[in-house]
Amino acid sequence: MGGGLQNGLIALAALAARPDLRLVVLERGSTLGGDHTWCFHADDVPAAAAAWFAPLVAHRWDGYDVAFPTRRRTLTSPYAALTSARFDAVVGAALAAAPNARLVRGAEVDAVAPGRVGYRHDGQWHELTATTVVDARGPQRTATDAGWQKFVGHELALDRPHGLDRPMLMDATVAQDDGFRFFYVLPLAPDRLLIEDTRFSDGPDLDRAALAEAVAAYAAAHGWTGRVVRTEHGCLPMPWTGDVVAPTPGLIVGGYQGGWFHPVTGYSLPIALRVAQAIADALAADREPAAALAPLVTEHRAQLGLAFRLTKMMFRWFAPPHRWGVLEHFYRLPEPTIRRFYALALTRGDRARLFVGRPPRGLSWRAVFGGAPAPLAKELT
Ligand SMILES: Cc1cc2nc3c(=O)[nH]c(=O)nc-3n(C[C@H](O)[C@H](O)[C@H](O)COP(=O)(O)OP(=O)(O)OC[C@H]3O[C@@H](n4cnc5c(N)ncnc54)[C@H](O)[C@@H]3O)c2cc1C
Repeated sequence: MGGGLQNGLIALAALAARPDLRLVVLERGSTLGGDHTWCFHADDVPAAAAAWFAPLVAHRWDGYDVAFPTRRRTLTSPYAALTSARFDAVVGAALAAAPNARLVRGAEVDAVAPGRVGYRHDGQWHELTATTVVDARGPQRTATDAGWQKFVGHELALDRPHGLDRPMLMDATVAQDDGFRFFYVLPLAPDRLLIEDTRFSDGPDLDRAALAEAVAAYAAAHGWTGRVVRTEHGCLPMPWTGDVVAPTPGLIVGGYQGGWFHPVTGYSLPIALRVAQAIADALAADREPAAALAPLVTEHRAQLGLAFRLTKMMFRWFAPPHRWGVLEHFYRLPEPTIRRFYALALTRGDRARLFVGRPPRGLSWRAVFGGAPAPLAKELT
């Protein structure tokens, strides 16, 4: 249910493991994967997934930069990106080529139960039964106990080459409006850039026009002129409470909707990949996919505890103009820890490293761990 990132990855992985699989993807839109650019660290891809995942990768870089008012750093971890356009083409082709797979575009799913689903298509109501239903209809637009990651991105076709050879993952040397704010710049080709204004804010209201203007101003300030060829925007919850939805026989709630994402970064690709590969492995071994996800549920839960604590710390202990200090502090860590943090695969050693040494400016570990009630961010402003 839903032809977005999670279910597209599951479809590719499952068909790689079982080309004869009976599989239906129901997507309400006319394309698969919406209108996104998904980035990730190249080593987020498990070895078993490398072959089926490779055709999706549209861009690769040997490293990336981050910049804060008091720290700049070049990281050498390879970084990569998928684009929706390629996702739609690759997943669509795999579904078309498989003898027992079907993609229904323009299908509005309206009823989901273990092993059953109902949807509207071309004005008619349809019902299907299946061994396993994967419901992955994307992020919720409402959440309590959450901050919000909001962004607007413009892809620019430039008048002349930009000269960048790697992404700027976070340029936080900009005015800290509306929470932690940074620009994200991806060099997609010598004369193409994706530039995003991103904010970690207290509320979900996204002023698309204002952020679009800010992107244009940032581009102009860097001497990048040209035309906007594509835009993307997003508003993702960054919660500090919640849980992954445990699969039950016949029903997996997947992707963002099922809690399979990173609460501190809003990233879900590394986790979506693990879920897809685990389902494919189960199918290859003739096991029930929902039951086979149990170890991943346990692993993900164990990671979520710390991630929720960090998200809450960022949103509740730091006033919006000072939130950048948390990320600036984070980027002092060794690169492998940073990579595992983004992948939500922290080891015990990484966890210790996060809390060793001086805390981010404006914070005392004793206050955080000593049980003092978190001040409201508003009170800190
Ligand atoms: C613009 C943007 C950029 C992002 N960039 C990154 C990134 O760089 N790296 C990263 O790891 N994460 C990123 N994320 C976060 C996360 O990875 C994405 O939100 C990801 O697409 C979530 O995957 P999903 O499968 O859960 O949901 P989605 O990919 O949103 O897929 C849900 C699908 O379900 C369909 N749908 C919804 N309701 C129905 C219905 N009733 N019937 C039928 N179909 C329905 C939707 O049309 C959609 O295609 C980004 C998010 C956004 C919004």
